[in-house]
Amino acid sequence: MSSIAAFAAERISVRYQTRSGAIDALRGIDLRIADGEFVAVLGPSGCGKSTLLKVAAGLITPTGGSATIGGKRLDRPGRDVGVAFQKPNLLPWKTVLDNVLLPARTLRLALGPATQRARDLLELVGLAAFANNYPAELSGGMQQRVGLARMLLHDPELLLMDEPFAALDAMTREALTLELQRIWMAQRKSVLFITHSIPEAVFLADRVVVMSARPGRIVDDFAVPLERPRTADTMASAAFVDACRYLRGHFQ
Ligand code: ADP
Ligand code: MG
Repeated sequence: MSSIAAFAAERISVRYQTRSGAIDALRGIDLRIADGEFVAVLGPSGCGKSTLLKVAAGLITPTGGSATIGGKRLDRPGRDVGVAFQKPNLLPWKTVLDNVLLPARTLRLALGPATQRARDLLELVGLAAFANNYPAELSGGMQQRVGLARMLLHDPELLLMDEPFAALDAMTREALTLELQRIWMAQRKSVLFITHSIPEAVFLADRVVVMSARPGRIVDDFAVPLERPRTADTMASAAFVDACRYLRGHFQ
């Protein structure tokens, strides 16, 4: 593995203080993501997956341990990451193009090149013809694609995705999973992809990291033995089915 990880968590712990007492969400998480590596984090609901993602995004400071991105200590939301959530949170009064351009202002990108890049990214996610439409005119899957384009606008090194397809119907979800692999192969970013879908994790990831129930700890780190590009046929292959069965064993 290269010396500087795209993302490295060392002994990360997070304890939330609530009115009914302290909640240990994460306990002693060690996780490294190499340059260009796609890592899925799989775990039951409430085990601390979103908490881990928020630590990586610099949105919460861990109670213990440290996290680095590209070797730099993380202490605030950084411009080295792109984030996508379950809901794309598009602004309904802005066009698709302007929604993709939203981060340009906060990140102080020059508008000319940013607009060209936004158009290129809309092309990449298959929405070039919808640049001037409004979010309400798009299906849920198309809206999520706008979110993916926006996440890529500032060309971040590390992509953080928190169950980005969980709200979509099964067929749209499968189509977007294939789409994400294509985008990732074209852009070769490092990815931390949170999911509670075993097949989605196996299909997309180089490694699947399994978390225990809260307080989240890492109980397995599984290298997915499947060639790329993976296709719809991959999901029917013995190697795919075996990998899913193996991982399902953690949750029975
Ligand atoms: P997951 O994404 O795996 O479902 P989360 O990271 O959202 O899990 O939450 C992990 C645990 O921490 C849960 O028990 C949740 O209730 C608790 N939790 C999450 N965010 C907060 C918060 N801001 N304050 C208090 N408790 C929280
Ligand atoms: Mg979550």
